[in-house]
Amino acid sequence: MSDVMEKSITGEKVTQKVDVMIVGAGFAGMYLLHKLRGLGISARVFDAASGVGGTWYWNRYPGARCDVESINYSYSFDSDLEQEWTWSEKYSPQPEILQYANHVADRFNLWPDMQFDTRIDVAHFNEKENRWTVKTSKGDVVSAQHFVLAVGTLSAPKLPEIKNQESFKGKVYETMKWPHEGVDFTGRRVAVIGTGSSAIQSIPLIAEQAAQLTVFQRTPNFSMPASNRKLSAEETTKAKAAYKTGYRQEARESGFGVPIPVATQSALEVTEAERTAAFQAGWDTGNLVAIIGGYTDILYDKEANDKAADFIRAKIREVVKDPVVAETLCPYNHPVGTKRPCLDTNYYQTYNLPHVKLVDLLKTGITEITPNGINTTTENLEFDDIVFATGFDAMTGSLVRIDIRGRGGVDLATAWKDGPATLLGLQVTGFPNMFTVTGPQSPSVLSNMMISIEQHIDWITDCISHMKDNGLATVEADKKAQAEWVEHSNEVGMATLYPLANSWYMGANVPGKPRVFLPYIGGVGPYREICDDVVAKGYKGFNFSK
Ligand code: FAD
Ligand code: NAP
Repeated sequence: MSDVMEKSITGEKVTQKVDVMIVGAGFAGMYLLHKLRGLGISARVFDAASGVGGTWYWNRYPGARCDVESINYSYSFDSDLEQEWTWSEKYSPQPEILQYANHVADRFNLWPDMQFDTRIDVAHFNEKENRWTVKTSKGDVVSAQHFVLAVGTLSAPKLPEIKNQESFKGKVYETMKWPHEGVDFTGRRVAVIGTGSSAIQSIPLIAEQAAQLTVFQRTPNFSMPASNRKLSAEETTKAKAAYKTGYRQEARESGFGVPIPVATQSALEVTEAERTAAFQAGWDTGNLVAIIGGYTDILYDKEANDKAADFIRAKIREVVKDPVVAETLCPYNHPVGTKRPCLDTNYYQTYNLPHVKLVDLLKTGITEITPNGINTTTENLEFDDIVFATGFDAMTGSLVRIDIRGRGGVDLATAWKDGPATLLGLQVTGFPNMFTVTGPQSPSVLSNMMISIEQHIDWITDCISHMKDNGLATVEADKKAQAEWVEHSNEVGMATLYPLANSWYMGANVPGKPRVFLPYIGGVGPYREICDDVVAKGYKGFNFSK
């Protein structure tokens, strides 16, 4: 931490004063602003981006689209908005989702209270005033009673630690910071590093243009065809009618934030033919949840999980013609679902193209990046372009990258040095009046995030409104209540197969990051009930001061 950062900013001259300071103009920050305004509470949103949309502002790589169906991956808080907006595809592409975010900002006239191209690097709690002082990259010093981090769970990009990255003389792209004007790879020799969701979506489209494409794979991923398609007028009408008759409520009460039938059987108590038919039905319709959630034990029992894994590996071998390449693409080192499974369009088929090569980093590691390309332990490869699809410092990265200091000047990064600790993923002991949207130990990334975002924003705004009505100065997670929630969240997580994978869910992709299961896997519906119950019991576990 620099000297400047170590200095307290709470005495600095305030240039803006609001009730609620919001960091992030993604779907969370936008809805929060709208909701607070409706309650007559002043708020201002700040974002490092030049526009709204968060994830969908930044991730403009070819093929970027949602993998939760658009009819589910959309706001549910306003029935007119629901009825007037029409999604073009089952999984709509990034430009359309960004257009939707802009439409929402226009429709609810959010623009006057949002400030862009402005990064928040420092936020300190002033214990005398019970207010947050927040400093922006533009020099504003904002004083706010409440400080809400709507900074996103997958918004802090993570580049790999490869030697001499800066020496490369060709063009370097990051999926998360894709140029707005797009990239033409025609005739170019391209390297893609990574085989997560971003890579799996972009590789087939990059391959369509590139003269040569080399994919560097460290961990093969489980992916299945999205079966994406245009939505028909009939489907849209049906979806919009369903919105009016409880469809969204079903999503709110569901396990993953998407209304699907609850599994009742173990994968091991049905015949192989029945199991294969069920997996095949999921596979044919791009229904990821049918594979990982179709039986009660896929995410809990290795033997059950192996059945799903075997099914997907057999599919990979069916599609990929070269048996060595097929085997390299088959994941064996983690159970299905314990790293985020992917939905793709022609991903495995891409490896049948003569100009596409797969480098298995488990056999041959990257030794360094050179001015002309990438050296591995076995060959020196030349490229014009390198694409980093290497993911994020997930769930905590965007929080701890800010110098956030709570009571006693304790900073969040230090408070979380052994792993994040929150009460319900909403608040952190020692950081009064600070809220995290879809924070660690909430369902967050294990759900349709639109549903989880709305639930958190509703809870936070209810709490802020309750404080306003009762003249309360601070709210803070009780230490014991927080410890109990962390213990419960860990217990539920450890009962699953998730800890078996080196995943970003476990913090394993960031060197030195404590290895803990970050989200809460108790289910979206049950989690909502717990949050509602806390409120019904007078905000049990949260301490208020006058
Ligand atoms: P974000 O959209 O991440 O927005 C956070 C904003 O905060 C960003 O604009 C960022 O610039 C800003 N910010 C962060 N730190 C600072 C700072 N210090 N100062 C100023 N500004 C800051 N989820 C699903 O449920 N379904 C999907 O299909 C799906 N697809 C995804 C595809 C991709 C490529 C990625 C990366 C994620 C996907 N997600 C998906 C998760 C997605 O992040 C959430 O669904 C949702 O968009 C998050 O909204 P948010 O507002 O919470 O955060
Ligand atoms: P990711 O899933 O974390 O994938 C990063 C990839 O880079 C992994 O294959 C990783 O390998 C590899 N990698 C990292 N460092 C490396 C290194 N030093 N050398 C070689 N390979 C390296 O990141 P992402 O693809 O950006 O996706 C992140 C999350 O965002 C997803 O899980 C999903 O939740 C969301 N997302 C969703 C969609 C969608 O379909 N809607 C699209 C994109 C993203 P290891 O696995 O070995 O670490």
